[in-house]
Amino acid sequence: MSLHALTITEAHEKLRKKEISCEELTRSCLERIEKVDGALNAVVYRNFDRALLEAKKIDSEGKFSSPLAGIPYLAKDVYCEEGVPTTACSNVLRSKDYVPPFDSTTTKRLKAAGAISIGKTNTDEFTMGASTETSCYGVTRNPWDTKRVAGGSSGGSAAAVAADECIFALGTDTGGSIRQPAAFCGLTGIRPTYGRTSRYGVMSMASSLDTIGPMCKNVEDLAIVLQAIAGADPLDGTTGKKPVPDYTKALTGNVKGMKIGLPKEYFADGMNEEIRASVMNAADVFKKLGATIVDISLPHTAYATPCYYVLCPCEVSSNMARYDGIRYGHTVKNAENLVDYYHRARSEGFGNEVKRRIMIGTYALSAGYYDAYYRQAQKVRTLISRDFAEAYKTVDVIIAPVTPGTAFTVGAHESDPVAMYLEDIFLSPQVMAGIPALSVPCGFAKNSMPLGLQIMGPQWGEETVLRVADAYEKSAGFAGKKPAL
Ligand code: GLN
Repeated sequence: MSLHALTITEAHEKLRKKEISCEELTRSCLERIEKVDGALNAVVYRNFDRALLEAKKIDSEGKFSSPLAGIPYLAKDVYCEEGVPTTACSNVLRSKDYVPPFDSTTTKRLKAAGAISIGKTNTDEFTMGASTETSCYGVTRNPWDTKRVAGGSSGGSAAAVAADECIFALGTDTGGSIRQPAAFCGLTGIRPTYGRTSRYGVMSMASSLDTIGPMCKNVEDLAIVLQAIAGADPLDGTTGKKPVPDYTKALTGNVKGMKIGLPKEYFADGMNEEIRASVMNAADVFKKLGATIVDISLPHTAYATPCYYVLCPCEVSSNMARYDGIRYGHTVKNAENLVDYYHRARSEGFGNEVKRRIMIGTYALSAGYYDAYYRQAQKVRTLISRDFAEAYKTVDVIIAPVTPGTAFTVGAHESDPVAMYLEDIFLSPQVMAGIPALSVPCGFAKNSMPLGLQIMGPQWGEETVLRVADAYEKSAGFAGKKPAL
């Protein structure tokens, strides 16, 4: 098997036994990027020279006690790394190539664990989207069918992992951006509890919703990466002080006696039959493993996506204010005055989706409308959280679809932003409640595209979610399938 196709655990074994060197492993990923990325456009910045230097250093030290020592990975283009251009795939930062003078907590922790950053992956501009089509670098294509999108906004990371351009990748999930592209590309990705991973040094979209998480080739790898990045961070006051459990130890394969909820609101009339069947088949797998399936209701589910598309733009309108062309961002020549300068820096620098959200958010937060939209959405958010809290009194985890369909074709939602927003219907409720949720492969549709199963847990319940996902993955047999590229 080619080295780039290895999982973290497999590569670690070989590195530890000195069967391969870290330089060989890294070169294998870099060559793979050179070979296949022309068709995918997943990688927007290649940090190859630095990666090879680090690989040689790790080889010469020869210490492979950390499971991530010498493992090459890619980070979504919103993670700041000292000296590495980071643009959120927006012309507002690209035109001057913003180079951060510091590391995000997550990339810093990965570096401390020995992982090697080999570059940056494509995303929708400032992570706003579900298809990686709003990037200033152009669309990322799905390795399973390059006429289709890889999903978004972490579409670059998903395509890169699916195509074996790296061993794992980092994404962000504000409203589904880890889980949806993972499902579209046939890999696994986790959105942890809000506050479980640090957002420090990751460019914000909506600060009360943004989460940081890994995208991997299997659940065991997810557990390994999450272990390295999770935990309180003095640089991010919203991280929780809860101790981080041993996630790999949780992967016992045993779900006997567990109660798994099936929420009726996720299975409305008219839904895609293949998607429904894939979740029902997963429920059967769990029954065979000795778990009990419990029908439950999460009554406020339908309000989650509308709520998200009020709250997210409100926070966007505030977070995007810093890109004024002076501290950061696109510079303007020959401005007539300061206001003209700001105006032009932002009109020229931002794309349409970012502008749309700034306008919606500014409107919803304005004096006359704050109570009608923002406050109301916050109240509904509380109701959605309560639905989950109530459900978790009787079940351990909840299973549901990830997406309403398989990866759509490039351009399918180009002229219809609301159709794009509706891609998130199964992904917004967990965001409103701040609970952990992951996507794990659960088969293929008739069009040969991958399908994902969503597994959600209670707040801080990553351990349980990972355990259930791992047990499923091992018996369902869909992990490790590769696209023919
Ligand atoms: N599709 C959602 C949006 O457009 C999710 C984005 C995200 O999670 N970053 O906002």
